[in-house]
Amino acid sequence: MSTGSPDAAPRPSDFLRDIVAADVAAGKHNGRVQTRFPPEPNGYLHIGHAKSICLNFGIAKEFGGLCNLRMDDTNPTREDVEYVESIQEDIRWLGFEWNGDVRYASDYFEQLYQWAERLIEKGLAYVDSQPADDIAKQRGTATQPGVASPYRDRPVAESLDVFRRMRAGEFPDGAHVLRAKIDMASPHLIMRDPILYRIRHAEHHRTGDAWCIYPLYDYAHGQSDAIEEVTHSVCTLEFETHRPLYDWFIEKLELFPSRQYEFARLNLTYTVMSKRRLLELVQGGFVSGWDDPRMPTLRGLRRRGYTPESIRNLCATIGVTRYNGMTDMVVLENALREHLNRIAPRRMAVLRPLKVTLTNYPGGRTEQLEAVNNPEDAAAGTRQVPFSRTLYVERDDFMENPPKQFFRLSPGREVRLRWAYFIKCHDVVKDADGNVVELLCTYDPETKGGDAPDGRKVKATLHWVSAEHALSAEVRLYDHLCRIPDLSEVPEGEDWKDSLNPKSLEVLTEAKLEPSLRDAAAGERVQFERLGYFCVDQDSRPGSLAFNRAVTLKDEWAKIQKRG
Ligand code: ATP
Ligand code: MG
Repeated sequence: MSTGSPDAAPRPSDFLRDIVAADVAAGKHNGRVQTRFPPEPNGYLHIGHAKSICLNFGIAKEFGGLCNLRMDDTNPTREDVEYVESIQEDIRWLGFEWNGDVRYASDYFEQLYQWAERLIEKGLAYVDSQPADDIAKQRGTATQPGVASPYRDRPVAESLDVFRRMRAGEFPDGAHVLRAKIDMASPHLIMRDPILYRIRHAEHHRTGDAWCIYPLYDYAHGQSDAIEEVTHSVCTLEFETHRPLYDWFIEKLELFPSRQYEFARLNLTYTVMSKRRLLELVQGGFVSGWDDPRMPTLRGLRRRGYTPESIRNLCATIGVTRYNGMTDMVVLENALREHLNRIAPRRMAVLRPLKVTLTNYPGGRTEQLEAVNNPEDAAAGTRQVPFSRTLYVERDDFMENPPKQFFRLSPGREVRLRWAYFIKCHDVVKDADGNVVELLCTYDPETKGGDAPDGRKVKATLHWVSAEHALSAEVRLYDHLCRIPDLSEVPEGEDWKDSLNPKSLEVLTEAKLEPSLRDAAAGERVQFERLGYFCVDQDSRPGSLAFNRAVTLKDEWAKIQKRG
């Protein structure tokens, strides 16, 4: 079962866990708990899937049960082995392991077919030879009953014969469908003789050309659960209206009584969560791929710097309910901040460098200064950071004519350099266009380590790197994928992609890092002091380092400033 390390927060109970606990206590299914996570392999997993994964694997683990991984691969045209493989990797990355081998709904095609014949023989299904459009029109509405198909009373033998010939490949796509014979006047639209099979001459990623008829999701899903003897079939709320149909199949085919429970899906502000839209972004080149760090996919979040722990903790925090709503992106970001604050080593990096020359510091001299790796983790120890006559500071940390509330560098102003000395700016050097290109400062040798023996205070502490020792790096800063919090508010007829944030990616190519980052390996996460948490990108190499900002800091720096 789950191999992930135990998470910090004790998992609160919720309505689903209460149901499972009651079933176990009552000895239902002999106290056995079997869940499953059933993705359709038509895209990469996203943060919404993580909620379902944590729920299904979590419940199984907590109640001593098992959780299967089943690819719901009934739609041959949209599925791909690329997705099948990535889904497995992403679930393992998140810290879960499924029971036994991966299952596939396509492995059940023969069984499903046999059950379809049984339904026909029982007079509970028939072949309809009308065009799909007509069938749709006859379905009726919530207030109007449907209209029976002229084929509804087709003799059993005839339906069986045509259905077998459908399987044998005698007909083109769309010539016939198999429908359940339930109730065209049912208040549940799903029960108005739903389609079970359609003809599709398409290659399937696993069964190849063995089949040219494919079961619809609704016909395959519940029975697949029954085949696997899933006790608690957990899915999202939009399937609530499908439950009567799933129960009907179980009853009529006398299958294992899997019971479906629905919960609200995770929706996050400022992003998109439907695989169809995510695919549109990938195919349209709006992002660099499924693993673009702006994507809400597990791949994207991982490349961005998210940890599995932070995602699991998010899922524990938001809980499980039956109310659809929006979760603020900040909740996800905070889950990451909370984790990285504990584990990420602090480093210094300057994203937009401005040269500082210490006019009273000897040229050619280098000092190694001690810097704390993680104030939250004493075991993380310290490191040496080189200091010399020429440094870089952040361009934003200097203003020639500062407004009242600006306490960082400006002419005549003294500030502290983190882990180093107080410095004071006495002159600026400008280029021909009048841009400041260098600051001339003095340092106070008495303030080594960052405190003045005479007790004088400064109002700002800046990060810096030694120019001579600095590493160059590309740093990518990210902002929300979408400009607006809720894409469901895009008016009908407008392209949702017009709501993408044109400033979601900013690439900085001149960043300078302290030399301890020379061998930083892909996936490593650090805090750049005052700038946020960053993750070494998979494309990063020694000599051409690349970092992605995972998340900005929140109040971290405010604390340090106060100590000034
Ligand atoms: P999408 O709408 O993104 O295309 P889907 O529901 O079609 O997702 P599936 O592959 O069928 O994707 O999903 C696998 C499982 O994950 C299902 O049980 C589904 O209910 C669940 N799931 C999908 N999206 C979310 C979400 N946003 N929150 C919680 N669970 C989700
Ligand atoms: Mg689905």
